[in-house]
Amino acid sequence: MAKLYFYYGAMGSSKSANAMMVAFNYRERGQKVLLCKTGVDTRDGARVIKSRMGLESKCELLDEICHWDKEKLGSYNVVIVDEAQFATSEQIDFLSDIVDDLHVPVICYGLRADFQNHLFPGSQRLLEICDEINEVKTMCWCGHKAICNARYNADGIVREGAQVMLGTNDEYIALCRKHFKEGKLHPDQEVVGLTD
Ligand SMILES: [Zn+2]
Repeated sequence: MAKLYFYYGAMGSSKSANAMMVAFNYRERGQKVLLCKTGVDTRDGARVIKSRMGLESKCELLDEICHWDKEKLGSYNVVIVDEAQFATSEQIDFLSDIVDDLHVPVICYGLRADFQNHLFPGSQRLLEICDEINEVKTMCWCGHKAICNARYNADGIVREGAQVMLGTNDEYIALCRKHFKEGKLHPDQEVVGLTD
């Protein structure tokens, strides 16, 4: 039976690389793969998925796929979605229709929560309705599992702002919960007001 899968992980947990490797494996077996990402994320150009490891693959946009007819969608053996956290709740429901009505498995990769540890809309809907939840793990600088996505700039960790910020110089780093709370981005950083 086809399933709706959600693979979540913090920043830098190789989610995009995983998505492309799974697509490669399917294609190597002669399967037709629909690789796509959400439209909000334009960091890497509109129709390309790039990983930090250097892997790169052309892709479609989820915004557009949602308007494809069922015959076209049903011609694929699998649908793989990167940056699924930015999908709307309705788009995730649409993906679940592909699974239930067309019997095509849909594999979604994305962040669970934003820089304030609140669920993204796409991630929330996936957690609510997906068949299978899996974690793609990565580490904080301290060696513990990273579960928080800290936003930071030259002044340190950023605590306030919009959930999705495009066109700023802010960057992101995956931290364990303790170091997220402390705002400690690296081992040499002095943290004011907190003691270990
Ligand atoms: Zn840590």
